[in-house]
Amino acid sequence: MSTAWAGGTDAILERMEQMTSLFVEETRKSMYKGESATHCEECGEEIPESRRLAIPCKYCVDCQTALEKGSK
Ligand SMILES: [Zn+2]
Repeated sequence: MSTAWAGGTDAILERMEQMTSLFVEETRKSMYKGESATHCEECGEEIPESRRLAIPCKYCVDCQTALEKGSK
């Protein structure tokens, strides 16, 4: 255990948290880069226009939900 960390740990953790959330944000953006697909890449189901306009997406609601849950 080193005392060199005393006082600095909170700042380091805070910075790491900021970097992590920034990274997640960037990843999300790059995942949805570009235009929406008209049909789901997973099951081929047509994606409703309202959904496509709301967020650029590649999957239908069902597949998106399944992917986010990690059950696929
Ligand atoms: Zn689908």
